[in-house]
Amino acid sequence: TLAKPRQPELKTALPGPKTASIMERDSQHLSTSYMRPYPFVPDHGEGVWLTDVDGNTMLDFFAGIAVSTTGHAHPHVVQAVQEQITKFTHVCLTDYPQEITTSLAERLVKHVEKPGEKWRVFFSNSGAEAVEAAVKLARNHTGRQHIISTMGSFHGRTYGAITLTGSKTKYKRGFGPLLPAVSHVPYPNPFRPPLGSTAETCGQAVLEHIESLFVGILPADEVAAIIVEPMQGEGGYIVPPADFLPGLRALCDKYGIMLIFDEVQAGMGRTGKMFSFQHFDVQPDIITSAKGIASGMPLGALLAKESVMTWPVGSHGSTYGGNPVAAAAAHSTLDLLEGKVQHPGCGANLMDNAAQVGEFIMTELKKMQAEFPFLGDVRGAGLFIGLEFVKPDGSPDGALRDRASMAMFERGLLNLDCGEAVIRISPPLILTREEAATGLEIMRETLRTLQ
Ligand code: PMP
Repeated sequence: TLAKPRQPELKTALPGPKTASIMERDSQHLSTSYMRPYPFVPDHGEGVWLTDVDGNTMLDFFAGIAVSTTGHAHPHVVQAVQEQITKFTHVCLTDYPQEITTSLAERLVKHVEKPGEKWRVFFSNSGAEAVEAAVKLARNHTGRQHIISTMGSFHGRTYGAITLTGSKTKYKRGFGPLLPAVSHVPYPNPFRPPLGSTAETCGQAVLEHIESLFVGILPADEVAAIIVEPMQGEGGYIVPPADFLPGLRALCDKYGIMLIFDEVQAGMGRTGKMFSFQHFDVQPDIITSAKGIASGMPLGALLAKESVMTWPVGSHGSTYGGNPVAAAAAHSTLDLLEGKVQHPGCGANLMDNAAQVGEFIMTELKKMQAEFPFLGDVRGAGLFIGLEFVKPDGSPDGALRDRASMAMFERGLLNLDCGEAVIRISPPLILTREEAATGLEIMRETLRTLQ
């Protein structure tokens, strides 16, 4: 059985000799843009555990940036991939229909369709490509050009996507000119409310700010879409106030603007529901998905209302998008998310498991917050949890977060930062309560050393 409770096993001091050697070769031959925050070179994985080339087994609390939904080498996913790869690897979905992608689209839209409202799917290979497709579709459908995005957002690294991205300067510096006709508005972060608002009023404040732009600055009838992460990922795992997304929907309806939800990071069961926007009473026009959708096989998806997906035949496509092997991985991932196949020790389905284990982690982290004053905020939903480090004056403490993150890594917990001073907890959704407790113990021990 998978996911047996156990402790990380560190056989060599990190980094071990093989790790050090591969990292040296990596630094000689791979792109200078790659970051190497932790000395870790994976060799193989099983469930929520990853073993490096020196035999160190680590607990995976980041899942390759919220990707490995079903953990590593899940037998059900492996079998599905193996079966498809022996049939055919590629034909090209842009030109020929394939049952495996037809049925995958049918399955995905079931999670968003409402009575009387049909949806359609375009498949890509990645999140950024899904975002590009969303922008193209919104412009093509509305005949308008302008896109509004949010500060602190991340939407990918292609030209359209980095233009929309509203976070770190390094993503844009030296790469311009970017896409024209894009504006950014604040994201309603209840922990750091923008525009002089409070945790309670920040959603309304952002909505009023957007509407104020429509008076004299940016004519609303030139705005094709507003793109927003329903829960912001790279920006710091932020959950907006409950009135924000419904308010955005009302605003978009008032001015004929498409509402795009980027669910690339928070979607596919991670927050305890299939899509993170489903925690709120709201329906978008377009959804982008990727990451967790196929447990690590490269796949992205653009979902759109049929009434919106009006681009003409041949106007958009992709050589590999919707690859059948990736689609097989997505089907098997959905089997586990929906509970058609059950993962031992994880209840009826992985969405419920994410909700329950996430709640346990959140409760424990709140206790730690009471113990450690430098933990300014603990927030999230399901297994999408952010831990924000603060200085005594309440400002973000990125340096302390970096120390904490490295110290957790050195104790056997793979983790990843986000935002200015946040550690994200985004483990595989097969994480059991026992495994969560092991990770939490490492976190607690680490935090004690920081006091
Ligand atoms: N959108 C969001 C919300 C993301 O978090 C990311 C990746 N971090 C992307 C888009 C881009 O996805 P990809 O790296 O697959 O292009």
